[in-house]
Amino acid sequence: MKQSVLDLLRAVGLESQAERIERGDCPLCGCKVDVSAFTEEVERMEFDISGLCPKCQYKVYHTNKFSYLPVMQGVMEFCRKV
Ligand SMILES: [Zn+2]
Repeated sequence: MKQSVLDLLRAVGLESQAERIERGDCPLCGCKVDVSAFTEEVERMEFDISGLCPKCQYKVYHTNKFSYLPVMQGVMEFCRKV
């Protein structure tokens, strides 16, 4: 996680979430994040951005009609071409 993201979280009053991320814990549920549990590259990328554990990523991105993985895989392919 980039320091600028942690600074941003603190600037908007999310100090406890920033502290969880710094400890290697998920900012939503507070569990210790097991990076070996990620099965997709896109999940690791999301972890680098948000610090979310696999369970919370699933809750956030797979509980709506919107499916997250195909969209993110498309974004990754686009970024590789640019
Ligand atoms: Zn979590």
